[in-house]
Amino acid sequence: MTETIPRPHGGVAGAGAVAAAEPGNSLLLCAPLGIEARALRRGLREARGGRGDGIPPCAGGSGGSSPRASTDRPPEVTLLRTGYGTTRAARQAERLSHRPFGQMMIMGVGGGLTIDLSPGDLVVGTEVGAVSCPSAPLLAGELRRAGLPARTGRITTVDHLIRRPQRAALAAEGALLVDMESAPLAAAADGRPVAVIRAVSDTPHHPLAGIVSGGLAALRSLRAAAPVAERWAAACGTRRVLLAGPRSFCAGVERAIEIVERVLQRQGAPVYVRKQIVHNTRVVGDLTRRGAVFVDELDQVPDGATVVFSAHGVSPAVRAQASRRGLAVIDATCPLVSKVHAEARRFAADGYTVALIGHAGHEEVEGTLGEAPDSTVLVQTTEDVARLRPRDEERVAYLMQTTLSVDEAAEVSAALRERFGSVRAPGSDDICYATTNRQAAVRAVAAESDLVLVAGSANSSNSVRLVETCERAGTPAHLIDSAEDIQLGWLAGAQVIGLTAGASAPPAVVEEIISALAGLGPVSVSERVTTTESIRFGLPKEVRQ
Ligand code: SF4
Repeated sequence: MTETIPRPHGGVAGAGAVAAAEPGNSLLLCAPLGIEARALRRGLREARGGRGDGIPPCAGGSGGSSPRASTDRPPEVTLLRTGYGTTRAARQAERLSHRPFGQMMIMGVGGGLTIDLSPGDLVVGTEVGAVSCPSAPLLAGELRRAGLPARTGRITTVDHLIRRPQRAALAAEGALLVDMESAPLAAAADGRPVAVIRAVSDTPHHPLAGIVSGGLAALRSLRAAAPVAERWAAACGTRRVLLAGPRSFCAGVERAIEIVERVLQRQGAPVYVRKQIVHNTRVVGDLTRRGAVFVDELDQVPDGATVVFSAHGVSPAVRAQASRRGLAVIDATCPLVSKVHAEARRFAADGYTVALIGHAGHEEVEGTLGEAPDSTVLVQTTEDVARLRPRDEERVAYLMQTTLSVDEAAEVSAALRERFGSVRAPGSDDICYATTNRQAAVRAVAAESDLVLVAGSANSSNSVRLVETCERAGTPAHLIDSAEDIQLGWLAGAQVIGLTAGASAPPAVVEEIISALAGLGPVSVSERVTTTESIRFGLPKEVRQ
């Protein structure tokens, strides 16, 4: 099934902006002041190894480069000094409306509005006046990777210098930075990709009196940020995003999160959770803000408190420790992990050596190994199978971690079958439905994509397996926790981007990634659905209504 959802790509907020011209990789780099333009020119020149070629002079001239389709060629950069203040900015904006360019970046200094900003910090505008700049998270991430302190936030433009009370009022309205030019200039982008980076020259703690030192810090940051503007322009272009279906949360993850939410609702904070409830930094961060306390071991849980066991399961030794400590346990172990535990117990009780196919150190594997530690051996590779010394070669069984690569696990299980002709397999597949489905879906998408982005955290086994699935199919893939992790260099020349999310990654991350990509040019979104899922797991009795 294919569904197409065209996305606007930034522009005037709420106006459903339409591109004035097909974005190409020709960057109009606007700097209000000559000193700002010079800092940017120097930064661009340094990034090109001292050459200034390809950067037309800093002047308010006309002409410019024609937009062209996105390629992996470096963008043409036209550096334009637009003049100080809103009046000059508005006049320049009027001229720009007749000028062809692919994308616009506005860079200069500005006044920080919050006390956590320091001179030299960079603010990447998410909204600038009435103009939205959805690619801001991509830029902020790229600036941070370049070692620069960057934040995203709203930038407000005013028409005169303002004092401390007015700045406080703007901050109270949610603005992070104030300047005197960006809004009219950004409006002139008229639906083409636009971004604003302002370097903080003064803050509530470092007011205008300190403008010289603050200004120098700001100009240094601008210079260092200039090459990032060029990379942003190279990443701009028209794209297709292919969504893999299914993707994101599985039934076990939804259940585990709901359990913690319900315990928080009933008992209030703090609620102790042993290990990350699911392997995702966004989910863990969100629940932490709401009062969940994630601990590595039960020693960190106060006597008599309630503790939730994570979706990955625990060994019987952990259950026994909780019981000795008098802790009230609520078990969020996924029922499909519990099934593997039960199989381990059954095989061990029947005298089998259990070969557990999985990854060393993963919490799920540790929990399963703990069910029958004397009878279970971890096998990660076919070499491990060759080294296996069971008590009785006629009584060998195998089980699997639920989040393995289907292909890799098949190789290891085939080696076990070859070596031990009578090996017993699990009653039904241990690799869970969610892992299998997401791998099949991303394989379908990878076949059509230049690049695949996988939303998920680095410690999420099933997310890492999705990246490997793409790579095995010959398509480059990257694991990202959020849009900020996307490197602009990956996007240059990539016109079809596959997008999926691991079973522990929230659907909202996928939306944020699409939105950020839409800030680089028009994006059409299609979905490749290889199967649909309707599985739900019941909640434990302690949190049922
Ligand atoms: S990935 Fe599979 S085993 Fe893990 S929580 Fe989800 S459904 Fe359960």
